[in-house]
Amino acid sequence: MAKRDYYEVLGVDRNSTPPELKKAYRRVAMKYHPDRAPGDKQAEAKFKEASEAYEVLSDAEKRAAYDRFGHAGVDATRTGGFQSTAGFEDIFGDVFGDIFASADRSRRKPGRGSDLQYRLQLDLEQAVAGTTTKVRIPTYIACAICDGSGAKSGTGKSTCPSCQGQGQVRMQQGFFSVQQTCPTCRGSGQIIADPCAKCGGEGRARGSKTLSVKVPPGVDTGDRIRLTGEGEAGTSGAPPGDLYVQIQVRDHPLFQRDGGDLYCEIPLGFTVAALGGELEVPTLKGRIKLRIPPGTQSGKLFRMRGKGIKPVRSSTQGDLLCRVQIETPVRLSEKQQTLLRDFQKTLSEQHAPKAQNWLDGVKRFIDNLAR
Ligand SMILES: [Zn+2]
Ligand SMILES: [Zn+2]
Repeated sequence: MAKRDYYEVLGVDRNSTPPELKKAYRRVAMKYHPDRAPGDKQAEAKFKEASEAYEVLSDAEKRAAYDRFGHAGVDATRTGGFQSTAGFEDIFGDVFGDIFASADRSRRKPGRGSDLQYRLQLDLEQAVAGTTTKVRIPTYIACAICDGSGAKSGTGKSTCPSCQGQGQVRMQQGFFSVQQTCPTCRGSGQIIADPCAKCGGEGRARGSKTLSVKVPPGVDTGDRIRLTGEGEAGTSGAPPGDLYVQIQVRDHPLFQRDGGDLYCEIPLGFTVAALGGELEVPTLKGRIKLRIPPGTQSGKLFRMRGKGIKPVRSSTQGDLLCRVQIETPVRLSEKQQTLLRDFQKTLSEQHAPKAQNWLDGVKRFIDNLAR
């Protein structure tokens, strides 16, 4: 029998876009799927024909070959073709992803252990340098007696009688039947004939484990480290979940972090601020010198390039930003007060341009009010 043109099969024109193809395939496949008309050979043939057409046209490479050489370009037996035994969701997984998503996940990993979250608190120094730390996690661990299998030692598993080992059972839902995870074997297709006395066939028990977590340098609050297979043990020999270690960096007494930059507040004596000088400021690797120019104002931010942090996913080192806060001297002696009063007498407008600007502004404002 001569093969029909794939575009004709799906009822689309040759320029149709992938989403249009998908929509067309969905329409035809819904119409002819064997589950809707069991035993209808003609519908089954049409369904297979549409599936084959979609398989070729949805693949850019195969579609190009088909456009150039026709059916000869994409021999269906060579590309895999379609078997009538293919499950509904094998074909529809992509198209009806939303409907089958949950069933599909549980089918892949029946009884898989849950993922776990662990919050790991670190000091800033540890987060920046990286560290290896031991964590103790309460969780389900594989049963020591049956080694997680759930079966009494020496006995094995047998095929689940509810689903005949398929792991899936068909349920009627509206006008078409949907496959669901078998409730008897929870999707594994097998049941334990002779359960382990310790865990009752569960294959796992409440317990705790201690793990060594390697934290790379540069992590920050919110970063997550995944330890594959270190989550809860699965049931009856199913794979374990993953462990996610959530990083939380404690506040530091000197530094605040912003990505790769470190901020630090430094009190500065008013004579140094006025005369200029040199300060020693802290970094995560020790002290460094910071030059203070004469006439430095309170709140001035000094940037020291490359003295910050290299974040875990960055190749550049951040900066250290020091903000100086001028400290007014307190508890002055009589002699100091006299010195300051004498000093004050020497001051004129030019030594305080900010104050002078402000006073001028205030004067203009008040004059306007009076007018
Ligand atoms: Zn056991
Ligand atoms: Zn079953």
